[in-house]
Amino acid sequence: MTTAHVLVVEDEPKIAALLSDYLHRDHYAVSLLDSGRPVMDRVRADPPNLILLDIMLPDMDGMRLCREIRQISAVPIIMLTARIEEADRLRGFELGADDYVCKPFSPREVMARVRALLRRAGQEPIPPSMHTQDALGLHLEPACHRAMFNGLELTLTPVEFRLLQQFHDQPNTVLSRENLLDGLYDDHRVVTARTVDSHIKNLRRKLQAAVPGHRLIQAVYGVGYCFKPPQTG
Ligand code: CA
Repeated sequence: MTTAHVLVVEDEPKIAALLSDYLHRDHYAVSLLDSGRPVMDRVRADPPNLILLDIMLPDMDGMRLCREIRQISAVPIIMLTARIEEADRLRGFELGADDYVCKPFSPREVMARVRALLRRAGQEPIPPSMHTQDALGLHLEPACHRAMFNGLELTLTPVEFRLLQQFHDQPNTVLSRENLLDGLYDDHRVVTARTVDSHIKNLRRKLQAAVPGHRLIQAVYGVGYCFKPPQTG
């Protein structure tokens, strides 16, 4: 198997160095660019197998650059975003990006995405140990209100995300509706237990749709709800 070549476009030296370290550790060939202008020429001259592309570059908008790259190459692109507003824009735009991660990110998470994308692009075999973990992982990114379950992104409302986060933070614990209400809204609005029930109902429906047959949130009669984390490994 040949070594995959990853191009990192990132102007923050610390982040570029961190990504470069982790990529080298995983035996990728890495090239770094700290601005947007040289990217198109580089992609033409030395086509990478994957690009990690920062959105806020000193000389260019990373989103525009992503669109330009797409016109000449189908290379997998992961966008690096620093703000929830950017993540929202990313979700809304047809940029041609394959994935995105929010800063501050866990380098391990980024590496997992890199592997997954290269695998999908047919560049890497699937290590057998990753199957089960991939299959039932629940991963939350509070910085951009992003929830991944079973490798699929869940489309959650802000309230549903907060609910899921509360469950996720306190697994195997029965939480009353009052417990859950406390963390639900910033503005101390008056809501009833029924409101919680209806949000949970929607959340459960979305989780069920992602992985049929798994009841992550279980109702405990007369008490509240309990989160049973997915079995991994
Ligand atoms: Ca930047």
